Amino acid sequence: MSHSDDRNYGFDTLAVRAGQRRTDEQEQSEPIFLSSSFTFASASQAAARFSGEEPGNIYSRFTNPTVRTFEERLAAMEGGECSVATASGMSAILATCMGLLNAGDHIVSSSGVFGTTVNLFSKILSRFGLETSFVPLTDYAAWERAIRPETRMLYLETPSNPLTEVADMEQMTALARAHDCLLVVDNCFCTPALQKPLAQGADIVIHSATKYLDGQGRCVGGAVVGDRQRVGEEVFGFLRTAGPTMSAFNAWVFLKGLETLQLRMRAHSENAMALADWLQHQPGVRRVNYPGLQSHPQHALAGRQQTAYGGIVSFEVDGGRAEAWRVIDGVRLISITANLGDLKTTITHPASTTHGRLSDQERRDYGIGENLIRLSVGIEDVADLQMDLEQAFGRPSA
Ligand SMILES: *Cc1c(COP(=O)(O)O)cnc(C)c1O
Repeated sequence: MSHSDDRNYGFDTLAVRAGQRRTDEQEQSEPIFLSSSFTFASASQAAARFSGEEPGNIYSRFTNPTVRTFEERLAAMEGGECSVATASGMSAILATCMGLLNAGDHIVSSSGVFGTTVNLFSKILSRFGLETSFVPLTDYAAWERAIRPETRMLYLETPSNPLTEVADMEQMTALARAHDCLLVVDNCFCTPALQKPLAQGADIVIHSATKYLDGQGRCVGGAVVGDRQRVGEEVFGFLRTAGPTMSAFNAWVFLKGLETLQLRMRAHSENAMALADWLQHQPGVRRVNYPGLQSHPQHALAGRQQTAYGGIVSFEVDGGRAEAWRVIDGVRLISITANLGDLKTTITHPASTTHGRLSDQERRDYGIGENLIRLSVGIEDVADLQMDLEQAFGRPSA
């Protein structure tokens, strides 16, 4: 299936076939090209490859056939012209900023983004002349107020972590167009199976492939998806020079993950919906954040923008840190780990882990209380998850 054919197939077909080019061995499954460099038929071919006159592989920091298959498959699924794979989700964000921005440029980001992204913007990129302002995800007047003449990028995650707030992509696209800014969306929580930000007006999609794209908690990786000029030339130009590229082995794991992405995202969403609904009725549970619930402030918007509500649920328990930790320490089946997007359900205390580096004031501003617990709902039997949480809630205090 050549790259140009890809556009004519449906999502489920692209997920299992896009980007595959069989070798002369006629393999059915995609091979892993564990080769750091590639050979040339002659000195003149080497020269032509290096000058860019002739396309083709040179060295795996630049291109690798297994990585290319993952990139083309993800680009087809996101509806982007082009994608580049990176060593991690964080290096996807770094490569996007380094490839597309210059010293003196300004970023406006939603305040509820992944904690390490906040640190990258405010502690590292700031040292190189890139300033970032943070605004609440759904306060569009605040986004507008924060935009300056030198603002080049609007950056957000939707739904947000761990509160699952949903951004209105129509409003954000209008804002980006009006101020001539790039709209960059980290599509980690939904993946292209549930939401396609590029079709909604975003310029760039970021992925931590570590999460749902792998889906089985094995490898760390990331990707940037967008148009040929910005992603294929400028972001790729940074990557091939600076080097945080994806290994062929990891690319193979991720491209196999893409094959079952739609099935998994449906199963995660179904279980999360059932668990969120159940949690609302548990004594000692105060508030449940899940876009699929009627009580969620952007429930209708999420229903328009997403084909399902995803696998992340957060909830508050009565009390503070001690009560939240008691629930977490009480689970027997669910894994206590900060990772998300795994087939196995995971439980986290955001205030002391993923958002632990924020100041108390920042956490209060973002609404991340000491009594908040985040679940990344897996695909186990939902009755077993309920039973596990029930006994964790009921555990007598020490
Ligand atoms: C995990 C995560 C990242 C960072 O990805 P890594 O693969 O851990 O580098 C970025 N954004 C979101 C939303 C994430 O959950």
